[in-house]
Order: sequence, then structure tokens, then C-alpha cells
Amino acid sequence: MELVHTVEWMRQAARQAREEGAIVGLVPTMGALHAGHLSLVRAACAACSNVVVSIFVNPTQFAPGEDYSRYPRTLDADRAAVAPLGVHYLFAPPVEEMYPPSFSTSVVVEGLSERFEGRSRPGHFRGVATVVLKLLEIVHPSAAYFGRKDAQQARIIRQMASDLALGSEIVVCPIVREPDGLALSSRNSYLDGRERAAATVLHRALATVRERVEGGERRAAPLVEEMRRKLAGEPLAAIDYAEIVNGDTFEPVTTVRGSCLAVLAAFIGSTRLLDNLSIEECNGRVTCTL
Ligand code: AMP
Repeated sequence: MELVHTVEWMRQAARQAREEGAIVGLVPTMGALHAGHLSLVRAACAACSNVVVSIFVNPTQFAPGEDYSRYPRTLDADRAAVAPLGVHYLFAPPVEEMYPPSFSTSVVVEGLSERFEGRSRPGHFRGVATVVLKLLEIVHPSAAYFGRKDAQQARIIRQMASDLALGSEIVVCPIVREPDGLALSSRNSYLDGRERAAATVLHRALATVRERVEGGERRAAPLVEEMRRKLAGEPLAAIDYAEIVNGDTFEPVTTVRGSCLAVLAAFIGSTRLLDNLSIEECNGRVTCTL
């Protein structure tokens, strides 16, 4: 596995791999890799013959006052974690390489970027879309891998890839969880012991929705109320949003039908966590996936 720090080197290496007939896969991350990230890397390695993992703590996707400076940076451990999986390139550019002083272009996926995560984190999706577009342009992968953990982000990237005819398939992988249900996240490392125990409330709230939906409830209002009640019952949790949305538009729904998501974000102490439940309804039958 080769560690690459410059855009030009990465671009040339990926171009050469493509010219030699490789199927190139890209896994964009901000590092501090955990089993959730590694599941994306494994999926990429299973389907592609040349895999690039990028590690870049992207400053433009942090809203003012967020945790950019204290976000965990663990390049040596990340390198050791991905090397045995068959990754060819670890692309870890410094900030000036991705954003030289004259940098002045950004991309916005309108509509989808304004709701939920976008409303709570101004500028977040502009930063995400811009850096992902740049990474896709550098690597030109056949496929790029994202986690359903960040469902709105994955939806926005898919929209951007379609709108701009980027030619890379956007693959969305399942959420990897701790044994007690907490979705793995680099930000879980901020939680102290009490907060870590309290953080399972996100999963518990979604599991309640799953139970009610599997029991036949299709009205969104009582499901949302149940989710909120569960979150409110945890003293260390402060709810940001909890909704049932259409999986395509991220508009709140009144009835569970077709592809929906129960989405929620909450602060546990000062750490903001998010999670979601996929609800697929077809002809009255539902499949819920946490
Ligand atoms: P991040 O490093 O937080 O930007 O995440 C990089 C990629 O890993 C994104 O596509 C995330 O959705 C994905 N990811 C993060 N946590 C998980 C998880 N618990 N399970 C699956 N994918 C995840």
C-alpha cells in the first residue's frame, strides 16, 4: 500500500491503474478509522481491483464552532488498519493541497442540503459535496463507497453524481454497530463513561419505531412521538431532530409508504450523534433495517 500526499501523484496513480485495466474503488473518509469505515473498505476491495482510501479531515464541512481542531487524527493507526485489507493507495493530502490559497469553487446540491443535517450544520453539505466531487475528479473511480450511517450525505452525493454525470457508481453500505446497538462513529471517542451508556438511546429510540412499524403502525405522527419520548427519557440526551422522512426527498411523511427513513440527531453531553432506521414498505409489507 502506498501513502500518497499530493493531488497530482494520486491523479496519475489512479489514471495509470485505470489504463492498465483496473477497476478502481474509492472510500472517502475523515480517518480515525473504525469497523464501520473498514466495512466500506472491505466492500470496495471485494468489488474493485484497485482501492483508494482517502483520509482528509475536511475543514469546509465543519460549521463554525464545531470540532474541527479536536477531531481525532490517527494516521499511523489508520494506515495499519487498512494495509492488510488489500488497499492499494492511502490518499492523505494536507489541507493546502486540497484547498490552495486561491481556492474559490464550491458545489451545492440544492433542496436536499437544506434539511436536517444541513439546517443544523450550516455549510456542512456544501463542504461535503465539494470535497467529494474533488476526490471523485482526482481518482475517477468506477465506484465510491459511503455508509448509510450518514444517509442524507449519501443521498446528496448520489444526487450530485447523477446531476453532474460523474460516471462513478455510488454504493451505500449498511451501518456497523457496537454490540449494544450504538452506531460506530469517530465522535464516539468524545463520550465519557456515563455518556457512552446514555448514547444507546438513539438506537433504542429507533428500535421502538421498528417494533411499532413491524406491529402494523403506518402513521408517522405516533412513531415520531414515540421516538421523541424515548430520547426525552434520557437525561443526558438533547434532541436535535427526530422525523420519519421519504428516503428520496428527505421530506417528512405522514404515512409510512415506499422507502422511508426514521432519522434522528441528538446531543449526548456536548457530542452530537446521528442515526437512522431504514423502512422499506411494499404492498403493506415492511422491512426495517437498523
Ligand atoms: P467519516 O470518516 O465520518 O466522514 O465517514 C466516512 C464514511 O464512513 C462515510 O461514508 C460514513 O457514512 C461511513 N461510516 C461512518 N460510520 C459508519 C458506520 N458505523 N457504519 C458504516 N459506515 C459508516
